[in-house]
Amino acid sequence: MPRHNFSAKVKRQAHERSGGHCEAVGEVYGLPPGQRCNAALAGKRVEIDHYPIPATDEGSDVLENAVACCTKCHGHKTATYDVPMQAKGKRVATRHLGISQPGTLPGARIKYSRARGVWVDRATGQIVEAPQQ
Ligand SMILES: [Zn+2]
Repeated sequence: MPRHNFSAKVKRQAHERSGGHCEAVGEVYGLPPGQRCNAALAGKRVEIDHYPIPATDEGSDVLENAVACCTKCHGHKTATYDVPMQAKGKRVATRHLGISQPGTLPGARIKYSRARGVWVDRATGQIVEAPQQ
């Protein structure tokens, strides 16, 4: 999936808006609801996160969707929010193609690999969701 990256200008503006403190707010970043992290960003690596619009979506590369945050907050969100979201997106896409629906495509297309413990699409070699019973 293509990612929409912020321009240098938007990154600079987000950084300026932050006032040098992490802008991450709330549970998505591993914080109590409504609470801002506020960790000092000076001298540290600053991540510009896409929120609430995922980086894979059109229109996500605007200042309103840019969150200047510390690596801790960004890391938490990436692990607990972005990655599951992307996995969900992939599952939806897979279902859309009819791959996970037995009967739509011959069952032989998907094969269970005992060695790897996963279902594999033989045509692409990619791991797929287990067929729905
Ligand atoms: Zn933070």
